[in-house]
Amino acid sequence: MSFNAVIVEKDEEGKTSASVKSINESDLPEGNVTIAVEYSTVNYKDGLCIGPGGGLVRNYPHVPGIDFAGTVEASDDDRYKPGDKVVLTGWRVGEAHWGGYAQKARVNADWLVPLPEGLTTRQAMAVGTAGFTAMLAVMALEKQGMKKGAGPVLVTGAAGGVGSVATAILSNLGYEVAGVTGRPETSDYLKSLGATQIVPREEINETTKRPLEKETWAGCIDAVGGDMMARVLGQMQYGASVAAVGLAGGAALPATVIPFLLRGVNILGIDSVMQPYENRVEAWKRVATDLPLDKLEDMVVPATLEDLPKLGKDILKGQVKGRVVVDVNA
Ligand code: NDP
Repeated sequence: MSFNAVIVEKDEEGKTSASVKSINESDLPEGNVTIAVEYSTVNYKDGLCIGPGGGLVRNYPHVPGIDFAGTVEASDDDRYKPGDKVVLTGWRVGEAHWGGYAQKARVNADWLVPLPEGLTTRQAMAVGTAGFTAMLAVMALEKQGMKKGAGPVLVTGAAGGVGSVATAILSNLGYEVAGVTGRPETSDYLKSLGATQIVPREEINETTKRPLEKETWAGCIDAVGGDMMARVLGQMQYGASVAAVGLAGGAALPATVIPFLLRGVNILGIDSVMQPYENRVEAWKRVATDLPLDKLEDMVVPATLEDLPKLGKDILKGQVKGRVVVDVNA
């Protein structure tokens, strides 16, 4: 039985191209669970894997899609049986292993998580790696002592995927949220998600010679990195933490150590790809309870497999707002 998939091919000159093609189940990679995919999504990393690869894709032809949710069709693993609803994020699926931009996927059972109670497969993909990572960041900040009522929590890259979900979760939990955006036209959207303050990107994306500025932020979820994160470190309140999630603005960190030494500021590294199973289950449970589903719906941009080559380019240019949900069967 053939089915549709986004296939990325590489020509002799090393140029990649992505298009929807029909493939067979026998084309799928090895794995002990086969899933009828229902929904996938678009993360920044997907943009790299749909396009030039960014060093993430090992072999071509390749099926990208770092996240998917669907129903188990066949399983050689005791933990899953046909009919079970499952979610997959991370484990280098969609990079080193074929991913979710197809009507079927075959993976290792260790990489799956049962669909959390209270979420549909579509909602799980509206969350996706971006939202799951936002939840991990909130959990890490709380563990490190972030408290409500201590002042605004800064979310950088706020109108993007991680930023949108982080804003909605923090606001729903009762935190005051300040969202940094380079797109002023997203202000109303960010306010609808719960941001009470909008910080224009240009106010905060350049380094300053002053290593310490006014103690402003009670916490920060940073999807941008680079100069912006370096600047934010000097604006954190005493003892507060920055959850380092992304590098949309750059991987270098041109900072001084002064905020760590004089204000006890912390950087908490957040990785979603290799998170142990127990943490994944815990984070998904928290997503289902802490993220208001009406706000999640407001973030959704619906798409099909055919839309993915363009969406991959858009997300690399920072032009995707909120969370794309790909109906792979549409
Ligand atoms: P998006 O593209 O959806 O969001 C990124 C946002 O960052 C953009 O929407 C934009 O927000 C802002 N931005 C883009 N370019 C720049 C720039 N040059 N300078 C300042 N701000 C910029 O991506 P995601 O939300 O999916 O991912 C965000 C980051 O997090 C990526 O770097 C991604 O690789 C990383 N990530 C890491 C994970 C992990 O496990 N650690 C998991 C998931 C993502 P605005 O328009 O509001 O300014």
